[in-house]
Amino acid sequence: MTLNILHLYPKEMNLYGDHGNILAIKRRCEWRGIKTNIIHYEPGDEIPDDIDIIFGGGGQDSGQGKIEADLQKIAPKLKDFVERETPTLVICGIYQLFGHYFETSEGKKIEGTKILNLKTVAGDTRLIGNITISTPEFGEVVGYENHSGLTYLGEDMQAFGTVITGAGNNGKDMTEGVKYKNCIGTYLHGPLLPKNPRVTDFLILKALENKTGKSQKLEVLNDHIEQRAHKVAVSRPR
Ligand code: GLN
Repeated sequence: MTLNILHLYPKEMNLYGDHGNILAIKRRCEWRGIKTNIIHYEPGDEIPDDIDIIFGGGGQDSGQGKIEADLQKIAPKLKDFVERETPTLVICGIYQLFGHYFETSEGKKIEGTKILNLKTVAGDTRLIGNITISTPEFGEVVGYENHSGLTYLGEDMQAFGTVITGAGNNGKDMTEGVKYKNCIGTYLHGPLLPKNPRVTDFLILKALENKTGKSQKLEVLNDHIEQRAHKVAVSRPR
């Protein structure tokens, strides 16, 4: 079995180790004898129909501006994947653009895909530092955030987690990220997945279940090193 992983805009949207998320998915698949095929999507490319996992990372405001027009073109296809429960992880810059829009500190509105009911407006100061959150599905999740955007979730949206230390969506309401169907949006870079293997395994498991149409069990891996990395990250000061 081969899982097709769509990596959105790796050139413009790839900050603070985001590419490591792709490596983590690939490795945890390989360790279980599951093959992966990484599709690097850049503006103008075709998106194949048989995508099993979608990933998009963070980027500077200018990078978000560069992909805006292309993202509008592929938005219906991405929405269709998310609505059909395709496991999806979008971080920071692409997380913001999975919502309605991101308004930069210069007042420029970058249109989003509107897949997620949320909007983002730049604040006066950047929210930077290590962050730990508590999530209902994956327990404690740890990462690093660096964003000017303040994200506000629509009433029908559920947060990915609650902030323990750090700022999260907007530094005010203690929410962090969003979880809609099998789509996780979050501000956590770092990269996120190597230090939070339960999140990685969620993406892989859902992909396998969608592909086979049957419930699946993942082979348990020795996560000793991942757990250590997690612990060290949690213990770091903000
Ligand atoms: N440019 C966006 C912001 O500053 C996203 C940053 C990021 O992806 N780290 O909010």
